[in-house]
Amino acid sequence: MPHRIVRSVLALVLLAAGLLAGSLVTAGSAHADGCYTWNRTLSQGASGADVTELQIRVAGYPGYGGVLGIDGDFGPATKAAVTRFQQAYGLPADGIAGPATFERIYALQDNDCTPVHFSFAELNTCNTTWAGGAVSAGTAKSNALRTMWKLEAMRHALGDQPLRVTSGFRSTACNNAVGGAAGSRHLYGDAADLGAGPHTLCKLAQQARSHGFNGILGPGYPAHNDHAHVDHRPSRFWSASSCGI
Ligand SMILES: [Zn+2]
Repeated sequence: MPHRIVRSVLALVLLAAGLLAGSLVTAGSAHADGCYTWNRTLSQGASGADVTELQIRVAGYPGYGGVLGIDGDFGPATKAAVTRFQQAYGLPADGIAGPATFERIYALQDNDCTPVHFSFAELNTCNTTWAGGAVSAGTAKSNALRTMWKLEAMRHALGDQPLRVTSGFRSTACNNAVGGAAGSRHLYGDAADLGAGPHTLCKLAQQARSHGFNGILGPGYPAHNDHAHVDHRPSRFWSASSCGI
C-alpha cells in the first residue's frame, strides 16, 4: 500500500511538472511566428499596416455576399469579420483582435504567411515566378495569398475537410494552354478552381458565397460542370444554375 501511494504522489508531481513545462513552452513560442507578429490589440477605429495584415486573415468571414475591404482601416465590417472568425474558432466573440485571436491566427499560418492548409505551390502550378499574367508577379502572388485565407475559412466552415485546388494562377501562356477565357481571373492570381471530393461542386459553390468571393462559377455555367471556380473580380458575378445559384 505505501508503495502504491508513493507512486501515485510521484505520478501527480510528474504530471504537474509536465503541464507546467508544457504551458511554459506554449507561452515562449507564442510570438515566435515566422510570418508576422502583431504588437497591439486592434479594435474598431484602429488603422495601419497591422490592420491590413489582420484583414487579409479574416477576409473569409464577411458574411453571406460580403467582401471585406483590405484597406488598413478597422471599421464595422472588419469588426464583424473578426467576430465571425472568433465564433468560428470558439473564442470570446467581441470583435476585438487581442492575444487570443492572434494566437489562433498564428496557429493557422505557415512561416510564409499562407494558411496551414494551402500553399503558394498549390495555387500556382503554371510557373515558379508568378510572372506573365495580367498583373505584376508580386500582385499575382499577393492576390493568391488573399484567396488562400478565404479558402481556409471555407474549409473550416465545411467541417475541416480538404479542399482540392485544381488550378490557380496562370500566365497568359498557361491560360491559353488550358483554353481559359480571355481576361480570366486566373491571370490575376486571385482565382481558384476546386475539384469535387469530399464535397460536391454545388456544396463548394454554395458555401463560397459566405467567404468573400465576388466571382463564383459552377455546374450549369458553361465549361464549369467539372469544377467550382471562385475569384476576386471587382463586382459580383455568381452563376451555377444547376446549384440554384
Ligand atoms: Zn477557374
